[in-house]
Parts: sequence; structure tokens; C-alpha cells
Amino acid sequence: MRVEAVLGDITRQDVDAIVNAANEALAGGGGVDGAVHRAAGARQMHEACARLGGCATGDAKATPGFALKARWVVHTVGPRWRGGNAGEEQALRSCYRRCLEVADELGARSVAFPAISTGVYGYPPRQAAEVAVTTLLGTETKVELVRLVAFDQASFDIYRELLASHGGRAGQ
Ligand code: ADP
Repeated sequence: MRVEAVLGDITRQDVDAIVNAANEALAGGGGVDGAVHRAAGARQMHEACARLGGCATGDAKATPGFALKARWVVHTVGPRWRGGNAGEEQALRSCYRRCLEVADELGARSVAFPAISTGVYGYPPRQAAEVAVTTLLGTETKVELVRLVAFDQASFDIYRELLASHGGRAGQ
């Protein structure tokens, strides 16, 4: 598996599956979640999510991508940061692992991830990036390309640095 980093918008990625940083109700929201719902087609995405019956923190569930370039959306629920001693790291690792498992079940070969939990949920970006890179590189999967999509230059620089030291690649 190759892991690369880009600076960009998760909704515009031309990959088999994109990951959505969702909430437990899968009801849509702000940040990545709002952007994914809008770009996919809000009504269809809302109906597809409603049929999934919610999603626990650390778990992942798929819907079609509808109007997106990506064929599927893998919705995952990251932990809310509560200071770091409330199982946040374990839950965030679980998000990345479960997204790859769901991608494998779908037959997706390329998957793009946003920086799960680092927005409204408050996970410190560098620590979240370390969890992302080490978990992805340590998980057995049939996914061939993982793209880490940073939404700002500082996050992109962190990914680039971590991938250089862990043997991944930074693109763009
Ligand atoms: P969470 O609730 O899991 O913290 P957010 O959606 O609030 O999720 O933010 C997660 C990260 O995604 C943040 O770093 C935010 O800057 C970034 N982000 C927001 N919109 C987009 C987008 N359209 N594409 C990629 N990343 C985005």
C-alpha cells in the first residue's frame, strides 16, 4: 500500500472511496460532513445514512457516493478529544482500521481520508496525523493507494514530515 498526502478538498478526490468524518447519528453536520453531504447530493445522502441506523465512535459504515467522483463514502465517527486519557487514541486508530476493512469489503483500491477528529472534535493535529500514518501503514489491506487530504498547509506539512520518516510519500 502507498500512502500519500495532498492539500485539497476531500469531496473532489478522484478515488474509489472517500472517508467522511461523521457523527454518531450520521445526520450530517458541519465541516467535512456538511461538505460531503452537499457534494454527494444532500437528500440522497441523508436518506442513505438514515438507513444505516447510526454509527458508533471508532466504527465505519458505507454508502454510495451519489454525485461525487468517488463511488463510495465510508462514514466514520472519530472520538471527541477529552484531554487524551479517555481512549481517544484507541478510538481514532479504530476509525482508520475500520475504514480500510470496509473499503476491502467494497473492493475499493484507492481511499482518501480527511484528518478525522481534528476539526470540531478537537484532536491535536500532529497527534492525529501520527495515529493516521502509523495505523494505515500497520494495517493489512487490499487497498493500494491511501491519500491523506490536508485542508490547510500546516496539516499538509505534518503529513509530509511523517510520511518521509515512515516511508510513505507526499504528493502535490
Ligand atoms: P471532526 O468532527 O471529526 O473533528 P471536522 O469536519 O470538523 O471533523 O474536521 C476534520 C478536519 O477536516 C479538520 O482538520 C478540517 O479542517 C478538515 N476539513 C474541513 N473541510 C474539509 C474538506 N472539504 N476537505 C478536507 N478536509 C476538510
